[in-house]
Amino acid sequence: MTGTATRVLVLNSGSSSVKYQLLDMRDSSRMAVGLVERIGEATSRLVHTPLAGGGERRERTGAIADHSAALKAVADELARDGLGLDSPELAAIGHRVVHGGLRFTEPTVITDEVMAEIERLVPVAPLHNPANITGIRTAQALRPDLPQVAVFDTAFHTTMPESAARYAIDVETADAHRIRRYGFHGTSHAYVSRATAALLGRDPSEVNVIVLHLGNGASASAVAGGRCVDTSMGLTPLEGLVMGTRSGDVDPAVTFHLMRVAGMSADEIDVLLNKKSGLVGLCGDNDMREIRRRVDAGDERAKLAFDIYVHRLRKYIGAYYAVLGRVDAVAFTAGVGENAAPVREAAIAGLEQLGLAVDAGLNAVRSDEARLISPQGARVAVAVVPTDEELEIARQTFELVQ
Ligand code: ADP
Repeated sequence: MTGTATRVLVLNSGSSSVKYQLLDMRDSSRMAVGLVERIGEATSRLVHTPLAGGGERRERTGAIADHSAALKAVADELARDGLGLDSPELAAIGHRVVHGGLRFTEPTVITDEVMAEIERLVPVAPLHNPANITGIRTAQALRPDLPQVAVFDTAFHTTMPESAARYAIDVETADAHRIRRYGFHGTSHAYVSRATAALLGRDPSEVNVIVLHLGNGASASAVAGGRCVDTSMGLTPLEGLVMGTRSGDVDPAVTFHLMRVAGMSADEIDVLLNKKSGLVGLCGDNDMREIRRRVDAGDERAKLAFDIYVHRLRKYIGAYYAVLGRVDAVAFTAGVGENAAPVREAAIAGLEQLGLAVDAGLNAVRSDEARLISPQGARVAVAVVPTDEELEIARQTFELVQ
């Protein structure tokens, strides 16, 4: 590769969507961002926003049959802005891959052998890895000569000790089926824990951070000196915090109880716990803005949903305080964490004994910057740290291929 190739295309391929960003790694700036959604339907939609080259935001709707057609449409849009995939300035394509199992602890250049291993992990990530695989194959077909890199959501969590990673179930059964806690959102937890250390003006190796990634999916992690030691998601992203549509922790007996008394199938219970539970199951809404509006209007169901959400969050803050022993910072990130001041306030309220407090004035400030919301001189920093998974994927990809 020549020294002039400084661009990285980041692809996040979901089951019916592709999100993408083109970044210039000389200054980590974004050259274009966009998404294709409802792939395979008659009402597919592509939204493309060039940020370099002077082009305008473009949107088009109409059937896009599959991921291959979606990626070709993206390539066409990029080419219209002079940012095409055939550019010699493109250094690599970085793919978000959800499940890397135990094997992938680092970003990895994709070879046939790597693809085979990602495929072998499909049984533990049936909703995610197949879409990631399709995205990779399509990108490979478009630019067979270009390095393609997989950045795994699970990689950051592979440092968890066995005491945190293993479920207390029969070891032979667990090992035969690769059942253990893998954790997800790792790219975000890695980025945010490092950015939190930077906000404190310290090296990541010196600080212990509890990261609360609260988006539509939500997870907490305990990060000691830059290494993950525990995280709330497990074999799948279902475990842990209350999420937009996922239940988070439930007694596993709920599953066989529903099978026996309600005659539900495994697939039906899967849909119930992943898609119809969490905030949406509790009150019909999964958007925290709408839930707060309803709470403020005196809606009891919304209030209960909010309280259950916050109660679970506080349990994990307490648990990870104990796991870490010493905590330097608690960092809130993702859609809810970055924007919902009432969630941050309620999560930290009354924890002064742990050195944790939120300054109401600072907490009310809206900003895209990483910032402290704890009172001046607080023993433990409470921070809002916007996550940037695409930048992290681009960085890791670029570092690897350079
Ligand atoms: P995803 O998991 O899909 O990446 P995000 O991190 O973008 O999700 O978070 C989306 C969620 O963030 C929304 O469902 C909503 O609950 C919440 N959110 C976004 N903006 C706000 C806001 N201004 N106030 C409160 N919550 C918000």
